[in-house]
Amino acid sequence: MCQIGREYLEMPVVKKIAAAREIAWVNPGLVPWEEALSRLGIGGEDIDDAQERLKRFAPFILKCFPETKDRGGIIESDLAVIPSMKEYVNHLCKGAVSGSLLLKKDSHLAVAGSVKARGGIYEVLKHTEELAVSAGLLTQQDDYSKLASDACREFFSQYTIQVGSTGNLGLSIGIASAAVGYRVVVHMSADAKQWKKDMLKSHGVTVVEYASDYSEAVKNGRRESDADPKSYFVDDENSRNLFMGYAVAARRLRGQMEELGIAADARHPLFVYIPCGVGGAPGGIAFGLKELWGDHVHVFFVEPTQAPCMVLGMATGLHSGICVQDVGLTGQTHADGLAVGRPSGFVGKVMEPLLSGEFTVDDWRLYEYMRALLRTEDIFIEPSACAAFEGPLKLLQSEETRKYLEERGLMGRLGEASHIVWATGGSLVPEDERKAYENTILKP
Ligand SMILES: *Cc1c(COP(=O)(O)O)cnc(C)c1O
Repeated sequence: MCQIGREYLEMPVVKKIAAAREIAWVNPGLVPWEEALSRLGIGGEDIDDAQERLKRFAPFILKCFPETKDRGGIIESDLAVIPSMKEYVNHLCKGAVSGSLLLKKDSHLAVAGSVKARGGIYEVLKHTEELAVSAGLLTQQDDYSKLASDACREFFSQYTIQVGSTGNLGLSIGIASAAVGYRVVVHMSADAKQWKKDMLKSHGVTVVEYASDYSEAVKNGRRESDADPKSYFVDDENSRNLFMGYAVAARRLRGQMEELGIAADARHPLFVYIPCGVGGAPGGIAFGLKELWGDHVHVFFVEPTQAPCMVLGMATGLHSGICVQDVGLTGQTHADGLAVGRPSGFVGKVMEPLLSGEFTVDDWRLYEYMRALLRTEDIFIEPSACAAFEGPLKLLQSEETRKYLEERGLMGRLGEASHIVWATGGSLVPEDERKAYENTILKP
């Protein structure tokens, strides 16, 4: 039963969302970065703290996951220029993208093959550090690779980590926790793919399956974990730790942009488009980006037309007090990583003064973008991740975002702009699943 006030349901943008139309939404709450920061209660020092912690853990990560050797135990992805895909995008939107188009390949992050390798692994490590330090097994000056010893694994095996997931967070938390030695329980929503469950089981993870959606899986996981004093719940709907793990991405991106000779300043606007589910990953990344580039970076989230929970929460100001089912949407989408009906309340509030806006996208387009990227650049990313391509395509085509650009005097600067499409997952997708995706053609 819907308990949302009529005044919300009658907002023009909510009506469009409820009709499952593709929308562009500009955030009326956006304020200059300095002002936003003064309101937030979090800042650069929180990102520094996360970054330092990941550095302390690098020797441990290197030992458990030798594939991180090239980066010395730091889990990071490449930033790629994608000129052929830009041609394809411009073919669709009549040459609207005049600056450079780049792909941030979190789809290829080590260990978990998705953006969740940032936040998920970070939170597991932070908890691990706390347990080990309070048990007298570790000091912050130690070489953290000692945590991979049999004695430490034995110690961690008395503890449990639990998480609710549509798939990728479960993979990230499951693989990282199993490496430390924890017992792990992943509560998977109905949207989660079978291969993700199978992969987790092969790591010794207990997978609990639900016929219901993500919010339900989270709720049950939280309850089971709270009943066990030796269990820790990674709470995707509220976690500051996940958020800060994601936020570190921007610091690393800055170095990569410098290497490519790409500027982000008053003369060179930077546009970043990130697929959004519950909000933790795109929110953390957005916060990190604003902390570095302030008003020169414009961050847009992209959600499926059937599961646009973040834009619904932000446009109404109700945040986690509204879900997509309240306006008659199903919450069901081929973008399994984005199949979330209710947004994080914590993230929505942090985004209020700093997010530029949102786009929503129909499922059929995801497969078209996916095939185009494969054809033009020989890069495979999963359908959820492809949602981000809607950003550069619609930025100039939508009246709302055109107005955003005009009001900020950005129209004349687009030739010097950079557009980063954040590819959030894909490299772990098995070959046969990939083939099935490649052959999926949905009707518009
Ligand atoms: C989880 C996920 C997202 C979005 O992250 P949230 O924290 O849920 O907003 C985007 N893309 C992929 C592939 C994901 O797995």
